[in-house]
Amino acid sequence: MTLSPPLAARWEALLAGLARIADVHPDALLASSMGVEDTLLIHAVAQLPRPLGVFMLDTGRLHPETLAMVDVIRARYGIETRVVHPDPQAVQDHVAAHGEFAFYESVELRKACCGIRKVEPLRRLLAGHTAWITGQRREQSLTRVELPETQWDDTFGLQKFNPLAFWTTDEVWRVARALDVPYNPLHDRGYPSIGCEPCTRAVRPGEDPRAGRWWWEQRDSRECGLHAGNVRATGTPGVRPRAHLSTDITETSTS
Ligand code: SF4
Repeated sequence: MTLSPPLAARWEALLAGLARIADVHPDALLASSMGVEDTLLIHAVAQLPRPLGVFMLDTGRLHPETLAMVDVIRARYGIETRVVHPDPQAVQDHVAAHGEFAFYESVELRKACCGIRKVEPLRRLLAGHTAWITGQRREQSLTRVELPETQWDDTFGLQKFNPLAFWTTDEVWRVARALDVPYNPLHDRGYPSIGCEPCTRAVRPGEDPRAGRWWWEQRDSRECGLHAGNVRATGTPGVRPRAHLSTDITETSTS
């Protein structure tokens, strides 16, 4: 299958944008939850003349299908996904104090779990790096409707790129299928968004794509701390919307 001219242009712009990120931030790391947005970005990164590191946060609560994608990516692209784990003592202490499923009890306990299993390992990983890249898109949730392609990440203190911010779900899937990008089999079972097994469920056709994430909480609290800036009001230092990726990345090099 070949890409239509508009999608081919979108794909080429993505490749060019990622190449500029790699030039300006050769230490940039691509975050992967092994959702289709992330495997699409891995497919793109694999085409770059200058490689970028890819990582996954293994919270200890992921689906086996998600973990298996590490081998799929290695086999397909020869890319070794760096798998980052939480501090085992912190996990053990939290579970001993609150139980295995405390995240269902309150937003605070859920955020504490995400803090231990996701935020702290990510902070450890990103320390000393100048940029990271995510597969977040505006369409994905209420907390992402104003997501910029480039932002300063106040939470972790480095540049953050969201090169798919303006892509639609349809565009992602059409490009992924046309380019035969490997994808997490959970998508075929109704999971539009990939996360921890006990905090993610399949959604019905037409339902909000993020409806399966922390479904027992209010929609506007459903971020895990990795993207805390999305929950703060737009206009705060954590969210600096800019016009377009191609100029954003050039600006970054001079700022
Ligand atoms: S998504 Fe659920 S299991 Fe995973 S780190 Fe957050 S609260 Fe814990």
